[in-house]
Amino acid sequence: MKIAVLGIGKIARDQHIPAINTSPDWTLAATLSRAGTVDGVPAFTDMDAMLRHCPGLDAVSLCLPPGPRLPYAEAALKAGLNVMLEKPPGATLSECRSLEALARAKGVALFATWHSREAAMVSAARAWLKGKRLRRLNIIWKEDVRKWHPGQDWVWEPGGLGVFDAGINALSILTGILSEALHVSAATLHVPENRQAPIAASLAFRHPEGAEVTAEFDWRQEGPQTWDIIAETDAGTMVLTRGGAHMAVDGVPQGGGREQGEYPRLYAKMARLIAAQAIDFDVSPMIHTADAFLRGERRTTTAFHW
Ligand code: NAP
Repeated sequence: MKIAVLGIGKIARDQHIPAINTSPDWTLAATLSRAGTVDGVPAFTDMDAMLRHCPGLDAVSLCLPPGPRLPYAEAALKAGLNVMLEKPPGATLSECRSLEALARAKGVALFATWHSREAAMVSAARAWLKGKRLRRLNIIWKEDVRKWHPGQDWVWEPGGLGVFDAGINALSILTGILSEALHVSAATLHVPENRQAPIAASLAFRHPEGAEVTAEFDWRQEGPQTWDIIAETDAGTMVLTRGGAHMAVDGVPQGGGREQGEYPRLYAKMARLIAAQAIDFDVSPMIHTADAFLRGERRTTTAFHW
């Protein structure tokens, strides 16, 4: 199938294009970006022109920041194309709802991807937690924004999510491994005095059986980076580290995970969704993010400069 990638930036270059180029399912037929291009691939800066000149397209993969994404996703769905979305699937929940309704009306596949759920040990963690009584779960997601988002000013703009751009990955794992319905009960957002979005955040969740569930997100971490989830249950403690790539139970490393390859798995899944004309559009990580902004106490912190 022929696919176009929209928004040729860091994640498109680091992950999407290599995954497409090594996939048996996909051919990269076009790109659409204001400036970014891929050698040897027809490049467009305008959606109408791309749709006119690429009549055989099956799908588009949107790698733009969430802010400017909606009109591109809408145009693709209206043109009858299947659509794959980088996380988060939209800038707002109402955008997400309207995209899902449009995809249903057009009978095309729509995939809100959560790449962290494809990390090697996430499905093993879900299987291990099943049937156990959770006592406590703590997320610690601390990374260096200068290293992972160099110069990306959109992350600091309204709708850019700030530290939740990374934290939503942890929330996608959380909602992927727990079946219980959680609710954000409190949040604190630390916003640099010269920016619109938080650089750090603390969240507490209400768990239906009273387990203590918290998350700490911080973009000011230099040195070792931390992407950990620690779950204490009535039958031991599971620790997911390195963003879900490794798992230990009571200190013992666990095997049986999937191979590395989050993005190849996402593209294989997109091909299956198209074959089934299905929609996979879980917005639960985005709901927790939105709720943190709704509930969040805002504290002003030191100015951030690249
Ligand atoms: P990025 O490097 O800034 O790339 C996004 C590209 O979108 C830009 O290079 C830009 O290309 C295009 N674009 C179009 N309209 C834009 C606008 N108004 N503002 C900024 N760029 C615009 O960002 P990214 O890191 O690839 O992230 C893109 C999406 O992938 C985000 O939703 C992010 O959460 C997600 N993601 C990122 C990572 C990561 O590690 N970076 C990991 C997983 C997911 P042109 O200038 O050519 O138009």
